[in-house]
Amino acid sequence: MIQSILIANRGEIAVRVVRACKEMGIRSVMVYSEADKDSLAVRMADDAVCIGPAPASESYLKPKNLISAAVLKRCDAIHPGVGFLSESPGFAKAVADAGLIWIGPPAATIGMLGDKVEAKRSAIEAGVPVIPGSDGPITDVADARKQAKKMGYPVIVKAASGGGGKGMRIVRSEDDLEGAIKIASNEAEKAFSDGTVYMEKYLENPRHVEVQILADSYGNVVHLGERDCSVQFKHQKLVEESPSTAVDEKTRAKMGKDTVSLFKSLDYVGAGTIEFLLYEGQHYFMEVNARVQVEHPVTELVTGIDIIREQIKVCGGEKLSFSQDDINVSGYAVECRINARTPGRITEYLPPGGYGVRIDSFLYPGYMVSPFYDSLVAKVLTYGRDRNEGLDRMNRVLDELVLEGITTNCEEQKRIINHPVFRSGAFGTGFLEQIEEEA
Ligand code: ADP
Repeated sequence: MIQSILIANRGEIAVRVVRACKEMGIRSVMVYSEADKDSLAVRMADDAVCIGPAPASESYLKPKNLISAAVLKRCDAIHPGVGFLSESPGFAKAVADAGLIWIGPPAATIGMLGDKVEAKRSAIEAGVPVIPGSDGPITDVADARKQAKKMGYPVIVKAASGGGGKGMRIVRSEDDLEGAIKIASNEAEKAFSDGTVYMEKYLENPRHVEVQILADSYGNVVHLGERDCSVQFKHQKLVEESPSTAVDEKTRAKMGKDTVSLFKSLDYVGAGTIEFLLYEGQHYFMEVNARVQVEHPVTELVTGIDIIREQIKVCGGEKLSFSQDDINVSGYAVECRINARTPGRITEYLPPGGYGVRIDSFLYPGYMVSPFYDSLVAKVLTYGRDRNEGLDRMNRVLDELVLEGITTNCEEQKRIINHPVFRSGAFGTGFLEQIEEEA
């Protein structure tokens, strides 16, 4: 049993993990950079340690500082949250080598899945359909030309170590292929210190549908249904919902089965997500996120499963306390990500309330939103018996939200939620770019 967790993160996910710890009777210890000493997670946690100056490269991304903090505070486990070092095999290994429990899958599994080319290979081996593409990394432009011709344009060049939509280039004709490979590779080298790129058939306006799982160390894997994350801007998710309007029962069953097969073939423990693109009724494996995701609360609302609690339990060595047959998806849930467009001090903050509402945030009046980190400041979620009820509630909730001192994308979110195309349920990943053009 885990007694004490060091939370190696910040912002809303840190608050989320502190809350789970409180409910489980686990001591929570926050780390913080000099810019975060007044953060809500630090206020709420049982204890806190400063790990360095504001830039993440000197604090949240320093394995040594984080592990020293855990040892100093006598923690027995580290929760990495999302982003930062949550998918760093080096950090996961260092945590285990220090005799601490890593709340995530084993380092070697993270390493394998972090290479999207390798991850795709393991999906093929597990019998999961993948997007047609280059057989491994692109090593030679002439060869890439041949492969692209065979697949047919458009194609997409993607970074093997990519994340956050970086290092991706859509290519519509052979003339642009060489340049796109160079640009994507340079971007990937800068962002991930790995210029390796691969190529896939570019699917026009597909749906992004992902499946959440929990796995224990006894070989049990349970999936918790899907989330639809097709509303994206520049390949970054903005609105997530469950269930997906694009998934029928047959596809749902196939995706669930494929997801469980893949995770069972891996040495996997904890929470994880498999991302698919859905195109003309067929799902195609895209990648695995070997950590909890920002949008996990959507699934919590429709299944009643506390994903962070279960993640902590299975990583602490417990067996999953439920089986696939115990999981029921009921009703509808949606999340709108509220992003800050500018840093600044919060002068007024009144979070919405009422039935079927959940706000995961770290804001409070007087809080200074720092320019150093991610722009996500609040996740606003609503639940309804069906999609229209959930979305009408979201419209009310976004109206009710009072957030002053910074500018956010709240108005844009309202426009999405009420857009007739979004309401119709028939849209793809290109939807937002289309309505941006209209506006
Ligand atoms: P990241 O890890 O950077 O988020 P992903 O591989 O998850 O990258 O892709 C992010 C988004 O990019 C997807 O949700 C989708 O909108 C788009 N995308 C990626 N690959 C393809 C593809 N082969 N065809 C069409 N869109 C794609």
